[in-house]
Amino acid sequence: MPQKPRSNSSDVVAPALAGGRFPIPQPAEPPRVLKGLGVSAGIVIGRAIVLDSGLGKVHRRVITPEHVKVELMKFDQALKSSIEELAAFQKQAAREMGDETAKIFAVHQGMLRDKSLVGPIRRMIESETVTAEYAVYHTFSEIASKFRKIPDSAFTTKVNDIDDLSIRLLRHLIGDSVMRVKSAGENTVIVARDLTPSQAAGFDRRKIAAFATDLGGRTSHTAIVARALGMPAVVGCQSVTEACTDGSVVILDGERGVVIVSPDSEQLEQYRGYIEQARVYSLSISELSHRPSVTVDGAKIEILGNIEFPDEVRAVNEVGGEGIGLYRTEFLYLTSDHEPTEREQFQAYRRCVELLGGKPLTIRTLDLGADKLTQSREEIPERNPFLGLRSIRYCLKRQPMFKTQLRAILRASALGPVKVMFPLVTSTAEFRQAKYLVNDVMEDLEEEAIPFDRSVKVGMMVEVPSAALMADTFAQEADFFSIGTNDLVQYTLAVDRTNERVAGYYNPAHPAVVRLIRDTVRAARRRSIPVSCCGESASDPEYALLLLGLGLRTLSMTSSAIPPLKRLIGSVSISQCERIARKVISLDSDVQVSAYLRDCARKIVPEAFDDRSDD
Ligand code: PEP
Ligand code: MG
Repeated sequence: MPQKPRSNSSDVVAPALAGGRFPIPQPAEPPRVLKGLGVSAGIVIGRAIVLDSGLGKVHRRVITPEHVKVELMKFDQALKSSIEELAAFQKQAAREMGDETAKIFAVHQGMLRDKSLVGPIRRMIESETVTAEYAVYHTFSEIASKFRKIPDSAFTTKVNDIDDLSIRLLRHLIGDSVMRVKSAGENTVIVARDLTPSQAAGFDRRKIAAFATDLGGRTSHTAIVARALGMPAVVGCQSVTEACTDGSVVILDGERGVVIVSPDSEQLEQYRGYIEQARVYSLSISELSHRPSVTVDGAKIEILGNIEFPDEVRAVNEVGGEGIGLYRTEFLYLTSDHEPTEREQFQAYRRCVELLGGKPLTIRTLDLGADKLTQSREEIPERNPFLGLRSIRYCLKRQPMFKTQLRAILRASALGPVKVMFPLVTSTAEFRQAKYLVNDVMEDLEEEAIPFDRSVKVGMMVEVPSAALMADTFAQEADFFSIGTNDLVQYTLAVDRTNERVAGYYNPAHPAVVRLIRDTVRAARRRSIPVSCCGESASDPEYALLLLGLGLRTLSMTSSAIPPLKRLIGSVSISQCERIARKVISLDSDVQVSAYLRDCARKIVPEAFDDRSDD
């Protein structure tokens, strides 16, 4: 069980932080180690900004007796600022709405000056040595709950007043999330209950070095964005927001899924050593970037990149990616406050084509829904969005929007080798309907004399069991397959990929998943259509051994995963991988498969594994 923190670390509020070298907090707090899911590799030693201790629940945090003075000063300052703010509102309201309305702001100022109200807050900070924000939150909540019990409407109004004052004071104490992230210093570790993919995508990389969340799963799109940004991240920590305060020193290990809050000097030294080890390893593999990826027995493996934003193509090029196997176009929607126009989409696709300079680009049509929702979607929330109107279903229901995207993609196909890929296809009817719309748009473009590639390849993701089970049929109609293990695991094993509570059940090594992949690859080979894997498993060196053994020769992944994978490919033979796959197929539990693959990978590329324990 994690221990409760015993002191607040805001007394170590940051001197300029350089290269992860931090002064050890004095007086030292006991370190607190939290285990989550490491979803984006890398180690960061930084300082926390806790986002959503926000204005919901504020956790009780004990401070050291030496710190009480500072908390009292913070409280007095927040009180003063709140009163000044209310005085300004009062003047403005008097001007714009008359004296009667303005009175409420005068009443609020009076309440904040009332010793019987604020006195208990000061006393609580002193006697219980807790943070000012907790004392405010607790005291005001107690008063409000007493008032709520009184069956008199006058007290209902008072509850509103109390809530309003509490929020105002807390805002001055904790600050506004957006502003705090904006004014973050370098090496900041964002700590939050949860983050959306677009929030993560919006972080300023120069300052935000990593993030940790209470919620989330390994293949949630927020995790995918973290990998795309090369930002170390640990999700599903359950209580990291409780363990940290703003300014807490944090070690975040994105590979092992460990967050250490208030580390001691020994832990800091140890992790500085790991950072150095990782630096040396990544230098050693960076030289592989421009070597072709060929196994020791001469099989050429095509390594492609997964991207969410056009500029990521540069990173893929830099590590020797041979094209883009998955462009998640929905991110243009997710980061925009309006539905992107045909022009905006075309510009994004054209940029990719230009940056690729003749290398292939697979554009996946909008995969909106589930954990990828736009701000502009007004539908009533679905009860079960992962099984709801998402991806290709959503597009087929909103044909004008879908056709706009298809036009933009087809126009880009005139500029370079572009392929179209549909997500989450579950039936031949869906695939045919989507293809029909592609033809429709082609006819429109022809009529308008707008150039496009008539022979553009149209393929599909195989990411639900129904598609994998019918791969033989789909292979007669689709030009190519790309296996999406992220969703395939979720839908085969009935495990929400974003839910940390069931993360232990989410395992691509499950024999059922392995068999679906095997059958999909076989079907594609029988019909001689290309097949690749673009799920996160493709970039896992242990799992990649299995994929190669099952017959895959094209893998698509986030750019940072390409060099280690090239190292693996250059160290193994296809016959070795086929032996591994045969053995895996004979096993009947995911635990056995995982252990076996791990063992194989450790033997083949021991240097990729450091001495950190996995516990
Ligand atoms: C997948 O499901 O494996 C996949 C690549 O698509 P996404 O992660 O965008 O759902
Ligand atoms: Mg998917």
